[in-house]
Amino acid sequence: MLNNKVKLFALTGLLFAFNSCTQEKDCGTVEVMPAPQKIELKEPNTFTGTPKNIIFMIGDGMGVTQITSGLTRQKDFLQLARCRHIGFSKTQSSSNYITDSAAGATAFSIGKKTFNGSIGMDKDTVAQKTILEIAEDNGLATGLVATSSITHATPASFIAHQPSRNMHEEIALDFLKTDIEVFIGGGKAHFEARTDKKNLSEELKNKGYQMAYTLDEIKSLPEGKIAGLLADNGMPKMSEGRGDFLEVASHTAIKNLDKNDKGFFLMIEGSQIDWGGHDMNSEYIISEMVDFDKTIGRVLDFADKDGETLVVITADHETGGYGIVDGSMEDGTVKGEFTTDHHTADMVPVFAYGPGADAFMGIYHNNTIFDKFMKLYGFQQ
Ligand code: MG
Ligand code: ZN
Repeated sequence: MLNNKVKLFALTGLLFAFNSCTQEKDCGTVEVMPAPQKIELKEPNTFTGTPKNIIFMIGDGMGVTQITSGLTRQKDFLQLARCRHIGFSKTQSSSNYITDSAAGATAFSIGKKTFNGSIGMDKDTVAQKTILEIAEDNGLATGLVATSSITHATPASFIAHQPSRNMHEEIALDFLKTDIEVFIGGGKAHFEARTDKKNLSEELKNKGYQMAYTLDEIKSLPEGKIAGLLADNGMPKMSEGRGDFLEVASHTAIKNLDKNDKGFFLMIEGSQIDWGGHDMNSEYIISEMVDFDKTIGRVLDFADKDGETLVVITADHETGGYGIVDGSMEDGTVKGEFTTDHHTADMVPVFAYGPGADAFMGIYHNNTIFDKFMKLYGFQQ
């Protein structure tokens, strides 16, 4: 019975994958990438000291295969390859062998494994301070950037405390209880079209935030606090014209946060790599993966110039049981198949770059990434 179920899943996955490879108009434009510039790898890739800033980049649902799909589409090129300190994260939650994104991100943000669905709360539903809040307490500047709603499970887990990821309106209210400097993503509806009729954007303005609703506004804002709500819910897909949103929003956040003398903590999420997996759509995964990799390049460029910034890039879990069964590095083609439309239990890779990078080598549980951040910042627990 179980076997048959697995076979059915695999067959469905195969059909979907076949579909997405042959009906380009159904999965949006398949971008023809210009051949990427070869990058000079920093040799030896060694770093000394401890970081003043940490930029934590989460590719939601980004397992090794998702990364390989981006590598192949870009014809054997990845910005991610600039990182030489690599480890693996075990993703299980306290309640499930297979985590969801809320428990996955909360493990990173509070340092404890918790139940699926939990936002910034431990397994006993007790709110715990997040690394972002602890950074604020220590005088650092903080930011969140995502291609989902900013109230979605991954970014929410760094700033909010709610028993369920579905409580978007409560999560939006939690943003007002913090001193976060910059947040940019979708999610306008949860701030401005609420069942309680409150307009949280008015309250944000009163707290000194500059509101931004378009990428042009993001680009032209003067220095200062930014609340960017560029879509009602999730941001558009790459194939629907999101353009260089993630790169520009991340760059803007870094530029602003870097003004703080004591340093900063910034979480950047490539949210929709996961959504491509749930859709069992290979092209969706690849276009989101390539976008995330471009942003990684931009962030690593900053880290190179800055010298005091640690960049850690990982995933909360893998999505899709995604496998590549055919393709070509020369042509950049990928034929992907799926074993599920949900997450898997796979370990996910962790890439680190900058001072403290060697702490991320090895195999460890996802929640210990919090401990490593705390130690590297020199924060007391
Ligand atoms: Mg997410
Ligand atoms: Zn997911």
